[in-house]
Amino acid sequence: LFVTLEGGDGVGKSTHARRIEAWMRDRGIETVRTREPGGTELGAEIRQIVLHHRGHIDSRAEALLYAADRAHHVATVVRPALERGACVIQDRYIDSSVAYQGAGRDLGSDDVRALSEWATRELTPHLTVLLDLDVAEGRRRMLAGRSGLDRLEAETVAFHERVRHTFLGVAALEPERFLVVDASRPQDEVAARIAERLETLLAA
Ligand code: C5P
Repeated sequence: LFVTLEGGDGVGKSTHARRIEAWMRDRGIETVRTREPGGTELGAEIRQIVLHHRGHIDSRAEALLYAADRAHHVATVVRPALERGACVIQDRYIDSSVAYQGAGRDLGSDDVRALSEWATRELTPHLTVLLDLDVAEGRRRMLAGRSGLDRLEAETVAFHERVRHTFLGVAALEPERFLVVDASRPQDEVAARIAERLETLLAA
């Protein structure tokens, strides 16, 4: 089972990735929890490069770097895990590129998706959990956690609004793959909604 988590910064993707992992392990399912960008040694270096140069990097060059990270990650971590029957729980995947590189910047969503589909040999998640949250609330959470402050400065609120709307637009086009959850709800309630969907998937 390949499960991805998507959404803006500060919505709780890593918290819920950990909770999904615990839920799977309780059921005796082997899990691999990973993330993009940066889920491999090569990817960690690419992550440093893109985050270090953000705001000053040509948008196509940036999209190619994310795609390179993704190609290597899928080939060396995700596919091998899925092939041995593990459940892969992944923080960010192709939809993040569509939202950030496609809509947030000046590239078209279709080109960005096509590039990632080529990079991953079209590996599609069974479930994508979109944690949807008001942009201002996400920023408040990031500030409270004091993580990613540099990012808050590099990008505007309007940029994050475009990212949020692109995520919601993609989810509306693929309702089978997506579970959209209101991330302003209490953490346990969000986790329960995700668990409900996982039960359905495992039963199928
Ligand atoms: O979620 P995480 O902290 O790993 O993401 C790091 C940053 O990289 C995010 O703030 C997001 O702006 C950016 N990103 C991106 N395109 C992607 C994935 C992440 O611009 N495909």
